[in-house]
Amino acid sequence: MKIDFKKYLLYFISTIIVAVIILSMLWLGHFEIYRDFINKIEQTSFDLRQNITSKYKTPDKNIVIVAVDNESYEYIMDKYGEWPISRKLWADVIENIEKVNPNKIIFDLLFVKPNLNDIKADKALVDAVKKYDNVYLSMNFDYTDKEVRTPIKLDDKFKVNIKIEDKNILNNDYTLFTNVRGVMDELSKVSNKIGSININRDKDGIIRNVTPVYLYQNDFYPNLSLLVGMDYLKVKEIKYENNKLILDNNHTIPLDNTKRTILNWYGGSHTYLHIPLWKVTNAIKKEDIKFLKDNFENKIIYIGTTATSLSDVKSVPVDSNLSGVELNATFLNNILDNNFIKKTNIEIDLLITILLSFFVGYFVLKIDSVLKTFVFLFLTLLTYFSISVFAMQKYNLWISIVIPYISTIATFVLVYCEKYLLKSKDYEQTYKLAVTDGLTQLYNHRYFQEQMLTQLNNYKRYKTPFSLIMIDIDFFKKFNDTYGHQSGDCVLKQVANILKRNSRTSDIACRYGGEEMSIILTNTNNKDAITTAEKICNTVRESDFILANNEKVKVTISVGVASVNDSIEKTQQLIEYCDKCLYKAKENGRNQVVFEV
Ligand code: GH3
Ligand code: MG
Ligand code: MG
Repeated sequence: MKIDFKKYLLYFISTIIVAVIILSMLWLGHFEIYRDFINKIEQTSFDLRQNITSKYKTPDKNIVIVAVDNESYEYIMDKYGEWPISRKLWADVIENIEKVNPNKIIFDLLFVKPNLNDIKADKALVDAVKKYDNVYLSMNFDYTDKEVRTPIKLDDKFKVNIKIEDKNILNNDYTLFTNVRGVMDELSKVSNKIGSININRDKDGIIRNVTPVYLYQNDFYPNLSLLVGMDYLKVKEIKYENNKLILDNNHTIPLDNTKRTILNWYGGSHTYLHIPLWKVTNAIKKEDIKFLKDNFENKIIYIGTTATSLSDVKSVPVDSNLSGVELNATFLNNILDNNFIKKTNIEIDLLITILLSFFVGYFVLKIDSVLKTFVFLFLTLLTYFSISVFAMQKYNLWISIVIPYISTIATFVLVYCEKYLLKSKDYEQTYKLAVTDGLTQLYNHRYFQEQMLTQLNNYKRYKTPFSLIMIDIDFFKKFNDTYGHQSGDCVLKQVANILKRNSRTSDIACRYGGEEMSIILTNTNNKDAITTAEKICNTVRESDFILANNEKVKVTISVGVASVNDSIEKTQQLIEYCDKCLYKAKENGRNQVVFEV
């Protein structure tokens, strides 16, 4: 019964500990340093999961990247001796690729200002863009001071239609901008398709999110890849609902609380078919239609820089060196595949944290072996991580790892300590039981022998004196015969109490065996021991012993006293000497103390 109660108490205390851990973590969440720290580790664990899962995802084969890579940059500088690349070249690229019916040609490049030295080249590009309705251009929102660059009014045709109750829902630091680097006027007049190529990094410099729609001068404008995706899926209007942008029944873009979307990666650099620009210009020069057809027919073609010298490189969860154009392609790929990452909300995270902590806390209490307990914790954390990878792989779900881990480990440590604290108390109790006599609550014979040895060794080493008193109840056999064994026990207990009351805390009162008791008086010489013995003998003589039936009887004891001296080699010698004194007391008529034979 006692043990059971203890276990319940343990569960109760543990439950409170777990609750306190979880609450304190929520409370700590108010501190930015703590929050940033947690976010940083959580994001790192996200990157790890993205690295694992990206290997099992297939990127869209229809997306092709024409890369202004390092080699192309060198090639173009050699051939044309200028940067940026002449717009005549881009006009040629459009005209020639269009010959093989591409699905879309998307420029992740900014054609911002008219080229003062080459008006003809500008006109060629304008003409090419005007001719085809599947060419997409880029713009970039920012906060540049209006005195540096006057914010332009973007044409209505560039807006994105969103059905939303209140525009302000999509208004925050990541969506609202005050200025824009738009395409040059002539292009803007002939182009119907222009989207933003803004990117934003997390605090650690890694890009994990994109903003799908932007607020500028109180109107919504699309991200470049959202625009491409909408056209590809033939979606004219997006519906905003419950933190989601709904394109159609099968395509939804989830938003986080910053109204951004978490990207799901298919791999790092060169995930998509990569064709260097120099190969394209070479093919155009040689009129190699087969090359163009093989690579571009029906394809969605993203054209952008990947050259490190042009510094359009980003760190993303799966690569520390990825170009912006590949990032845009990934966003489009996510839209078409409808497989964005959804982060679990705080309620779910909290529930997981509570369940995991209680699960671990419960088993820490249950499992006895230390090794097994640690293996159990390790396996639990590993299993949870595997589940989180599976959730990302199968359901594109980002479940929190860090908060559940911290809570679980804290629970483990505390419950473990708590368990061992109680165990050590148990041990104390067991030890006490092992050295105590059940009837009299005096020390038992074994303990007596142990202590005798300790005292004798002390005497031999430090000359600390000690004495021994041995007590035997007079005519106890007869007493038992007269009053019964139970009454005998009653007397034994009361004599034991007299012994305890009349000895110091440093003295060791024991039940030597049967109705014989003894006291080891530490640091006590013969004279003081005799005084104690006399006191005990007198007290017993004068006491009324109350039996089970409330009858009062008188009992006497005989006492032998002996003290250690240099002639004592073994404890048995002192015991024998004391026993002799006791025998003498009996012989002399009992009810007395004898200290010399
Ligand atoms: P004496 O004065 O010579 O000591 O006479 P005595 O009858 O006490 O003789 P002895 O010391 O040999 O007696 C031992 C008796 O003590 C035997 C047994 O009946 C009694 N006894 C021993 N242990 C217990 C016990 O745990 N409970 C009870 N009730 N009696 C015990
Ligand atoms: Mg006896
Ligand atoms: Mg006796």
